[in-house]
Amino acid sequence: MKNIAILGLGLIGGSIGLRAKGQGARVIGIPRREETLKKALELGAIDEGSLDISKVSEADLVFICTPINLIIPKLKEMAPHLKKGAIVTDVGSTKGEIVSQAEKLMPKGTHFVGGHPMAGKETVGIEVAEADLFKDKIWILTETSKTRQKVLEEVEEVVRSLGAKVVRMDTRTHDMVVAGISHVPLAAAAMLVNLAADSEEADLMKKCASSGFRDTTRVASGDPVLGLDMFLTNRVAVLKHLKTLRGKLLDLEKLIKAGDGEKIQAELKKAKRFRDSI
Ligand code: NAP
Repeated sequence: MKNIAILGLGLIGGSIGLRAKGQGARVIGIPRREETLKKALELGAIDEGSLDISKVSEADLVFICTPINLIIPKLKEMAPHLKKGAIVTDVGSTKGEIVSQAEKLMPKGTHFVGGHPMAGKETVGIEVAEADLFKDKIWILTETSKTRQKVLEEVEEVVRSLGAKVVRMDTRTHDMVVAGISHVPLAAAAMLVNLAADSEEADLMKKCASSGFRDTTRVASGDPVLGLDMFLTNRVAVLKHLKTLRGKLLDLEKLIKAGDGEKIQAELKKAKRFRDSI
């Protein structure tokens, strides 16, 4: 993988560039704005760049790092320019819809592998990109009946060179897993914050909230557009886990009403055991 193109140079795209350049690849950046291109060059996240998507024609591997709702439109735009044998991967936080559409759009002789680095921050943009963002973090690559093992292995090798650990899974499993550990926790954190924000004691809650509240709700400070895309492109899995969560909260409510200390403690112990093992 000598020539790597990155479409979308924000937190994730910029971090891939910073690390890939350190590994000896020629990194071509394709951002949306001239200003981002200038910043990426200044920060050393890319070797060269262009606002013109046809520049992907020079790449062996293309990372699509735009917001989720733009991944498929951008793939459509770049498809006619891809060289034979080119591999395209993405970093979108949901996979089912993206991968099934992407596989249909790929021109003959090119390949798509869905990806999702389990690394991020609440702040976005190339200014906060880091070469070490993916160090020792899981990077999920998805496998379908159309995936060629050789292609998957090549993407795996590049992802490992970025410092990440690869885990393979099918797209349905990916979407169920991340709904449970990322998308529904975001929903719960955001609604916890809104519980405080909408309460009569909102001002006092804000004044008194300390590390516990901050830790529990950290992800609610993330990019609202990213959150919206996660919920809407992973609806089935998010709704399934939200229903389960609602049931669990109702069960806890009943136990608290009944003053059933033994069962409440059992629930808290179970949660502590699992949380401590992560
Ligand atoms: P980001 O920092 O906001 O970066 C998004 C980039 O996409 C920006 O560089 C932006 O360009 C570019 N972009 C926006 N609209 C565009 C358009 N119409 N055409 C071309 N480029 C456009 O966001 P991010 O956190 O890197 O997220 C990018 C992807 O990574 C998302 O798909 C997300 O699901 C995934 N992801 C994010 C995280 C996380 O924690 N943030 C974790 C894992 C995966 P400008 O700079 O020119 O505005």
